[in-house]
Amino acid sequence: MDLSHELETIKTIARMAASVCQSVQAELAPLGSEGRAEKTGREPVTIADYASQALIGHALSTNYPEDAMIAEERSEEYMLLLTDRQRMDVQQFVTDALGGYVFEEDICAWLNFGKQQQTERTWVVDPIDGTKGFLNHRHYCVAIALLMGREPMLGVLASPNFMNEKPGEFADAGALIWAGGGEGAYMEPLSGGEAVALRISAINDPARATLLISFERDHTDFEFIQQIERALGRQPDSPRRCVDGQDKYAMVAADMGDIFLRIPPNPIYREKIWDHAAGYVIVTEAGGRVSDFDGNTLDFSQGTHLVNNQGLVVTNGYLHAEVLAAIANSRY
Ligand code: AMP
Ligand code: MG
Repeated sequence: MDLSHELETIKTIARMAASVCQSVQAELAPLGSEGRAEKTGREPVTIADYASQALIGHALSTNYPEDAMIAEERSEEYMLLLTDRQRMDVQQFVTDALGGYVFEEDICAWLNFGKQQQTERTWVVDPIDGTKGFLNHRHYCVAIALLMGREPMLGVLASPNFMNEKPGEFADAGALIWAGGGEGAYMEPLSGGEAVALRISAINDPARATLLISFERDHTDFEFIQQIERALGRQPDSPRRCVDGQDKYAMVAADMGDIFLRIPPNPIYREKIWDHAAGYVIVTEAGGRVSDFDGNTLDFSQGTHLVNNQGLVVTNGYLHAEVLAAIANSRY
């Protein structure tokens, strides 16, 4: 399937949205003298979230007016929960990004673009994935995916703090990671430049594999992860890294990690589709595998949440069966 027009369009949009996030971060959540984020609460992420989604909604409504969109934020909350000054900040950042004055009604319309639409094509948008990472100047990304007939077919991540660790390739901080139409997964510098094709690792020893998990205790059952690691024969010094948001998918695709486990502490928690759709396409097209704990593929056909899937396992494929067995043999 030829999705080259969509890919080029979405890459441009994701770059623009990421650039607004960077501007908000620089102005409203700068690093302090100790190299850590100043104590600013959630305000910067709120402003960046809405500015990013408004820009994405604007671009999608211009380029693909017939399509639907499922996105994290909504205009109702925007009007109810933000102060006048916060809404003015959002308006200002969007005005600056578009180079022309925008009204509050525009912002609201773009936030809710394609909301009630029932169509073959649905854009899935996380305007900032990894909000804690954004506030703490770690990883975060703008994530956009396209569902066709409820199947994710295209995924783009714009990640301003991504470090490409592959020797001999660009090491520029910040990357655009994308896949679509069955043409493979690629990464290029966020600032533009040559793309490199992504291919998952060939590691098949779980003790040597790099495990990627969230930073957040609220999002992750660390005790259960330890049980699984023991079942896999992993040692205390087996490689593991905490990474925010869908950069974990990008790292598996780019051979910078081999296993990504998502195990919410609450077993009835169901994942939101915008936290996974883009990453799913990228890992799958790079040759990896994504499933729930039972080995089922993710069902993106049920609206905003993956209601038919519990937990999430992302691997290079070679390790997948062993990881699923370790989960089945541990408690949950
Ligand atoms: P991470 O950066 O891996 O911690 O994942 C961030 C994502 O976790 C956010 O985009 C949220 O949608 C999602 N999230 C929020 N609350 C929970 C929860 N209670 N359990 C699991 N994931 C959550
Ligand atoms: Mg998210």
